[in-house]
Amino acid sequence: MLERWRLSVGGQVQGVGFRPFVYRLAVELGLAGWVINAANGAVIEAQGESDQLERFIRRLCAELPLHARIDRLDRQIVPPQTDSQAFAIHDSDGGGAITALMLPDLAVCSDCLRELRDPNDRRHCYPFINCTHCGARYSIIEALPYDRPKTTMRAFEMCAACRAEYDNPLDRRFHAQPIACPDCGPQLALWDAAGQMLAQRDDALRMAEEAIRQGMIVALKGMGGFQLLVDARDDAAVKRLRDRKHRPDKPLAVMFPTLDDLERACEVSQLERDLLLSSAAPIVLLRQKLNNIAPSVAPGLPYLGAFLPYTPLHHLLLDDLGFPVVATSGNRSGEPICIDEREALSALGGIADIFLVHDRPIARPVDDSVAMVAVDGMVMLRRARGYAPEPVELAGADSVIAFGAQQKNTVAFAHRGRVFISQHLGEMDSAAGSALCRRTIAEWTRLYDLHPEQAVCDLHPDYRTTRLAEASGLPVLRVQHHSAHVLAVMAEHGLSAPALGIAWDGTGYGADGTIWGGEWLHVTETAVTRFAHLRPFPLPGGDKAAYEPRRCALGALYAIYGHNLPIDRLDFTTSERDLLLSALERGINAPLTSSVGRLFDAAAALLGLIQRCTFEGQAAMLLEAAADGVETEERYPFRVTPVTNSNGTTRYMIEWTDMIAALGAEPDVRLAAAKFHNTLIAILTVIAQRGGERKIILSGGCFQNRRLLEGAVKALRAAGLTPYWASRIPPNDGGIALGQIAAAVRERERMPCV
Ligand code: ZN
Ligand code: ZN
Ligand code: FE
Repeated sequence: MLERWRLSVGGQVQGVGFRPFVYRLAVELGLAGWVINAANGAVIEAQGESDQLERFIRRLCAELPLHARIDRLDRQIVPPQTDSQAFAIHDSDGGGAITALMLPDLAVCSDCLRELRDPNDRRHCYPFINCTHCGARYSIIEALPYDRPKTTMRAFEMCAACRAEYDNPLDRRFHAQPIACPDCGPQLALWDAAGQMLAQRDDALRMAEEAIRQGMIVALKGMGGFQLLVDARDDAAVKRLRDRKHRPDKPLAVMFPTLDDLERACEVSQLERDLLLSSAAPIVLLRQKLNNIAPSVAPGLPYLGAFLPYTPLHHLLLDDLGFPVVATSGNRSGEPICIDEREALSALGGIADIFLVHDRPIARPVDDSVAMVAVDGMVMLRRARGYAPEPVELAGADSVIAFGAQQKNTVAFAHRGRVFISQHLGEMDSAAGSALCRRTIAEWTRLYDLHPEQAVCDLHPDYRTTRLAEASGLPVLRVQHHSAHVLAVMAEHGLSAPALGIAWDGTGYGADGTIWGGEWLHVTETAVTRFAHLRPFPLPGGDKAAYEPRRCALGALYAIYGHNLPIDRLDFTTSERDLLLSALERGINAPLTSSVGRLFDAAAALLGLIQRCTFEGQAAMLLEAAADGVETEERYPFRVTPVTNSNGTTRYMIEWTDMIAALGAEPDVRLAAAKFHNTLIAILTVIAQRGGERKIILSGGCFQNRRLLEGAVKALRAAGLTPYWASRIPPNDGGIALGQIAAAVRERERMPCV
């Protein structure tokens, strides 16, 4: 019997070759009708015999293109139309509420790579080759639905050959929005540091390669922003980059020409290989082998951030060079990455010797993502290219904007049961950082046509994001930092209360006005309460202590010994010491903290690993590195003291003083570092067992430490508990925005609006 079905399809169906796939399938099955992109996904009308239509739906779901995903498929039976014989692809309908998913940027596919290297192909060596399965998406989209006039490719008029491919439903570039070729698409240019054009097209590429061979620093306009490139084997060149970027120690990422090259330099597991080769192609932290990477790339660390070329431009460059290059974000320290070549000239002018640019505008900065594999799964550390803005499903989430935290910031939107989390926006301390935050919120509100009813931000009064939330004109909900950490991980895993959350990080504003960061939070249906925490200790100099582990150590020792503390292992002048001790004694500018991150700092300073940091998390990284390869079950002593709250309930305080005292007397630094980790894992587990909950949530930046994360998971499982930790969303402050949305959902459910 002849029928006509109208199918509404939701999910990832735009920019992934979904419509041509539908077309081919319909033609093969002899169906009439059409398919169209809609604001909320795609709509298909198909007409034919009912058994053919059944077969159509089955195969539609079973044979989806590589990056497509169907979340929702609604069928409506409509009257058959007598005039329709053929199947057609219609242009987008612009109306309706926008809920279609924006796709992340995708690494170049194998078909395009083959053409790139084929001397007989018209796109041979063309650095902007792409197709429906690969290329820029999020970084070129200016409006939805995803169509060429709504991307930064709109300025490029397609040539006849590209137009023919674009219009042919059987071509693999059918409706590939960024379609381009050497005749009609973007082109490379090479500029000197003054912005003078030195070369164009292939010559530009060749001269840039020569510059890298000679040890120069090249600023490359990539997919989501600028990168700074330098020969990764050339220690002097890498040091020059560090000097000019004012980045003395923070590890740099390295891009290898091929997987073979990468595997010669690092150990790679199957999971890590899958991640490197995925269409997201993130930077993956891998264990280094003996290799020829310059020592100043990742000084003193067993791991290297490694990745593979992901745009045709990177492939061309690395194919020719044949050696690994440092590829680090092209930004001024503390600011977002540059996306515009003119802006880059001024921001990177003092850093790069030469600029390899192109004329395809970048709609927004999208950094390279960073991930690691731990406990047999991915742990995202910086979520941007290839992942953002894929949403997390969260029932009840709607019409809320979350402004996130201050460091490693992301923002998030709740819209119809989904939380869209922005790419890593970076540090909010700079004016440029908070401007990016504001711009991202404005852009997303427009892109998705959102009408937020509530803003959520951190409890910290001085975060720039708190002030942005206050200026939004919306009712503001303030969420305690560590509650947000725990709720983020619960949201990612779709977990319901009750659970015991562990939030360990560097700094977060506590509900009592002190600095928290070593927290166990009891999450029930109705409340989040502080169940346990480290004994607070003073941080002489306040914020300064975050960059001076020696100050954290001084504060911890003062908490143990008072005025007569043993200070011989710390690097202070007599006058510095006297000044800080008198400040500690009078309680001036010495705020209290229960932070595990600061305890890591204290331990690292006491062990002589580091006195002053140049980047956040450096001390913890060195402490983890010091413990590398040390196998021991030994740990230091600790005690747990019950404390009565003002309302008569009990919480626990962890007395770490015995541990720090013993660690300070340990002659073997590597053993001490391992025992320190073991002690923290034991503390975490002992308290978890007292919580009375089976679900244990591990959250906060401290769990970027692989030894701590893997040890905690193992110990909790051995104790019969079920640990959960951040995987797709970072455990650090990049996850705070998601947690803030989750807090807003909880708030709403407890106080339903009438
Ligand atoms: Zn492709
Ligand atoms: Zn063309
Ligand atoms: Fe945090």
